[in-house]
Amino acid sequence: MPLEAGQKFSHDACGYRPAEGGPACGNCHHFTGGGCQIVEDPIAADMLCDFHAPGQPQAEAAPEPSGVPVGMGMPRGARPF
Ligand code: SF4
Repeated sequence: MPLEAGQKFSHDACGYRPAEGGPACGNCHHFTGGGCQIVEDPIAADMLCDFHAPGQPQAEAAPEPSGVPVGMGMPRGARPF
């Protein structure tokens, strides 16, 4: 059954269960650190569901580069020295 925008799968619908040492929410691409992008709360890092997607959890995704604000680089035509 397709989900509506903003809706998440229930635990029953996705077979949410203890990971038992294998793939787990904590190493799933959909894991956000305290929840899941596609399955309803609560979500724990040592659990697993049928939609596990191996990859880097969202909570550990590389942050946006900081420092120089976008658009604040060297003016066009400027010389660095
Ligand atoms: S295994 Fe992945 S998709 Fe399934 S509940 Fe955990 S974080 Fe969400």
